[in-house]
This record gives sequence, C-alpha cells and structure tokens, in this order.
Amino acid sequence: MSDESASKARYDLVEERAIASAHARGEKVDCPRCHVPMTSRALGGGSFGLGYARRREWLLCPQCRRSVLFDSARGTRN
Ligand SMILES: [Zn+2]
Repeated sequence: MSDESASKARYDLVEERAIASAHARGEKVDCPRCHVPMTSRALGGGSFGLGYARRREWLLCPQCRRSVLFDSARGTRN
C-alpha cells in the first residue's frame, strides 16, 4: 500500500488524537508528518439548524492533504 496513491489518506489514530488535543488547547497545530501549519475550519455552528451548540472542526494539511474531522466539545454558550 502506498501513501501517495491513496486519495483519502488519513492520519493514524495516535496522530489524530494528538492533533485534536493540541487544537482543543488552542495551540497551533502542525502536521505530524510534514511539519507545516495545518488549516483549520469550523463546520456547522448553527447554520444547519442542529439546535444545539455542537461544532465540528476540520483540520487540513496543505501539503500531504491529510485531514482530520472531529467534534468540538467547546461552545457551551452562544
Ligand atoms: Zn501533512
């Protein structure tokens, strides 16, 4: 299996957790493989009418294009 040929390459679980926890602490997150800053985007945030303050965040590495999508536990207030 080749990393490069997979269009939907993913981090492994350990990397995903490290990324998510660093992001949750408000730190700037670098791709653990490329060591470049990852792009973060917030998805949702009420525009989908979920009715509660749940947000999903998406971190994307511009270099290897791996990405992590995770639920954010933040946002207990509006
Ligand atoms: Zn990367």
